Amino acid sequence: MKIIDLHTHLGKWFIPIEKVSVDDFLRIMEKNGIEISVLSSSRAVVYDFRAGNRELAQAIRPRQGLLGYVFVNPNYLKESFAEMDKYLSEEKFVGLGELYDGSYIGNQALNCDGHKRTLERLLEKFPQRLVLFHCWAKNGISRLLEIAREFPDINFIAGHMGNPDWETAAEEFRKVENVYLEICSSSPIRGKIETVAEKIGAERVVFGSDSSLINPAFIIGMIVDSEINQKDKEKIFYLNAKSLLNI
Ligand SMILES: [Zn+2]
Repeated sequence: MKIIDLHTHLGKWFIPIEKVSVDDFLRIMEKNGIEISVLSSSRAVVYDFRAGNRELAQAIRPRQGLLGYVFVNPNYLKESFAEMDKYLSEEKFVGLGELYDGSYIGNQALNCDGHKRTLERLLEKFPQRLVLFHCWAKNGISRLLEIAREFPDINFIAGHMGNPDWETAAEEFRKVENVYLEICSSSPIRGKIETVAEKIGAERVVFGSDSSLINPAFIIGMIVDSEINQKDKEKIFYLNAKSLLNI
């Protein structure tokens, strides 16, 4: 079965991981039968977003099977718009990600500056209309629901689907049509795939692994082992992502 991985990162984190180079990453894809991966730069997420985006662009441009998300940081609006102008005209970049509100980038302080919230300003205009959003726990779910309602023309991938509150995510995101649940977290959970596929429909669930931070093998195993039909597995592994990426 073909696989597209919609949630991956290139580079090091502040916690030890083994595989960090683009060649390591390609080997992980090959070993797990992953045809296409969409990456964002971990350096961009946790340290220097312009240097990270630049490294990512260099890594994906010459390599088949690798696509990218541009990372933007709402603390630096002007610079973020410049990054979007710089990369989003390239076919290799499919949207924005993995976006955070708070968390690593600590954007909360900017939310009461009398302007529209800064993340929303970044989402107003960009051609691809696809966003991977780090959706963690109940706060992440309600924040993404709010943004998804404000931007109905953007397709949002809910990274981690609100883990550990993924059941709530499956219920809440039924209220909108433009949020897709991405399944990865640090541990496999029995019944997770069956539950979300039943609550929101397999059409709204996509495969993501957080590779190379997390080994994709056990996330793949969760789908393979789940008690849903083959067609639904194919939708989650490949077909839903294919249509989100217009390929
Ligand atoms: Zn991630």
